[in-house]
Amino acid sequence: AAKREGRETWRAYTRELEGGRRSRKKLEVELRAAIEENSLSVYYQPQVDLVTHRMIAVEALTRWRRPEGDIVSPLDFIPLAEETRLIVQLGEFVLRRAATDIVPFSELALAVNLSPVQLLRTDLVQMIEEVLAQSGFAPDRLELEITESALLKDDHTVRKMMLELKQLGVKLALDDFGTGFSSLSYLQRLPFDTIKLDRSFINSLDRDPGAVSIVHAVIGLGASLGMKVVAEGVETTAQARFLRDEGCRIAQGFLFAPALPAEEVDRLRGIDLSRHRVAAA
Ligand code: C2E
Ligand code: MG
Ligand code: MG
Ligand code: MG
Repeated sequence: AAKREGRETWRAYTRELEGGRRSRKKLEVELRAAIEENSLSVYYQPQVDLVTHRMIAVEALTRWRRPEGDIVSPLDFIPLAEETRLIVQLGEFVLRRAATDIVPFSELALAVNLSPVQLLRTDLVQMIEEVLAQSGFAPDRLELEITESALLKDDHTVRKMMLELKQLGVKLALDDFGTGFSSLSYLQRLPFDTIKLDRSFINSLDRDPGAVSIVHAVIGLGASLGMKVVAEGVETTAQARFLRDEGCRIAQGFLFAPALPAEEVDRLRGIDLSRHRVAAA
């Protein structure tokens, strides 16, 4: 009986695995098509000045609606795009679309996520230079967000690449700060302009004294290193107030707005965002 049970379990497992593989392959085929047909959307989440409550920048976040109509989270398709290297095309598409969309909103900076896979490509700098030139987007309005996992890859190559990007005049942000490994040495060795404080710390501010100490320390660290600190995932006025009182000037989160289509961003320009919460589009 035990043997039969084992065999059944194994069969079920194999079936599931094959199903998983099939749907993964299907997803890959669909994602490739979406990229080639330019049918991905790029939404923009406002970054807000906590003193003036005005939007000063937006982060480009990719949205994918499958032919079936359901929205796939970037948390699912970005890793797939990275494993299949589709991220190279996807990343270029997002940058080009974002630069084109945001270039007329001249008071706004633009943040775009850069995958570790892109960072190791020798043609990255040329690609970015080209997109900036073609869209007329000033390099100093662009900030590239890099996560700590990217920095684990190849220390020397990554550092060289980052210095070349800085030469272009673009800014660099360390994304999801505090979630990876040995972040402090990265801050010392790599030319970051901005620290993005991971939303897990902001999220636990209300109930975790440890989070309060860490947020306090990171804001101080940013100030003494001459870096901007952006708080991610700000959802309550209490969090926003705490951050502002601690000297953190910039926040991004559902308290102000989720990622929105460019037309919505246009409508919110110059508006006091502390007065009303913007719902998801
Ligand atoms: P990220 O770069 O850290 O982006 C912030 C994520 O936090 C976004 O999730 C955003 O919708 C979410 N978020 C913002 N405010 C709040 C809040 O107040 N509460 C909560 N709970 N969440 C908030 P999203 O759009 O699902 O993206 C997830 C991740 O996927 C991004 O994390 C980024 O690492 C990656 N990603 C998205 N678009 C791209 C892209 O075009 N290229 C690359 N390489 N990665 C991307
Ligand atoms: Mg980001
Ligand atoms: Mg982030
Ligand atoms: Mg994050």
